[in-house]
Amino acid sequence: MAKICVIGSCSMDLVVTSSKRPHAGETVLGESFATVPGGKGANQAVAASRLGAEVMMIGCVGEDFYGTEIMENLKRNRVLITNVEPVTHTESGTAHIILAEGDNSIIVVKGANDLVTPTLVERALDVIKGSDMVLIQQEIPEETVSYVSELCHKFNIPMLLNPAPARPISDTIIENAAYLTPNEHECTILFPGMSTTDALRKYPNKLFITEGSNGVRFYDGEQEVLVPTYKVNAIDTTGAGDTFNAAFAVALAEGSSIPDSVKFANRAASLSVTKFGAQGGMPTRAEVEANL
Ligand code: ATP
Repeated sequence: MAKICVIGSCSMDLVVTSSKRPHAGETVLGESFATVPGGKGANQAVAASRLGAEVMMIGCVGEDFYGTEIMENLKRNRVLITNVEPVTHTESGTAHIILAEGDNSIIVVKGANDLVTPTLVERALDVIKGSDMVLIQQEIPEETVSYVSELCHKFNIPMLLNPAPARPISDTIIENAAYLTPNEHECTILFPGMSTTDALRKYPNKLFITEGSNGVRFYDGEQEVLVPTYKVNAIDTTGAGDTFNAAFAVALAEGSSIPDSVKFANRAASLSVTKFGAQGGMPTRAEVEANL
């Protein structure tokens, strides 16, 4: 069983549907409301666990109702939460989502996710050192991503950085990462002024650009490869990237080749878009293997 350490955000999504989006100063009646556990870190941890990995989460929640719910959800999905720290005087991270008029508007409050500091990570050093793979995203402070990348480099542990949401990152982080998985938009922020082909050639077998329903592009040292994903009836693509990253990390940590790992991740992510919700659609190992 591969051991994956996920370092990242844990949040609660508060989702309102309404036929009309309120203007400033206006009140409208909504139609439904739901709370759904989210955050890229927690999503990827849940996906990796369903795919059969032993997953240790490092993160922070507030000492509030949502924090308790977030922890319970991780536990239900058999993610180990010893290193998810409840912090006082700060609320849990939340995303406030309005689905109206065929589009969404989102306000993200980082809350406790901003307290995932190098000091907090350092307290979990043994967990990191005992992992086959570290999986990390950018909903936590950049100094933490930088610190983790140095630890992984020092202790020779492969780090998969999903550079989402988009922000520029240092060359050192890029060098220290074993794998980078931006989508097309994030790739332009990571490598400004560089063509996709040049970026791929600069980082063979390291840079994997996800292209939604097209699949994944990378350079294997000899040629640029586009691995097509599976054709499915897409219902909700929320969390496709999170499922892809988790599945890619699990397969690589188990020692699968890069082409096999990309195929496995494409299959897992394509299955995830056939159901509603980020975590709701994440497949089990058996479901992925039955469809490979
Ligand atoms: P999101 O932010 O919506 O979670 P993303 O922008 O990070 O996603 P995408 O490139 O949209 O990432 O998708 C990641 C992977 O998910 C793709 O490379 C592909 O494997 C799979 N995928 C996404 N959309 C589809 C689709 N419509 N059909 C099949 N597979 C899909």
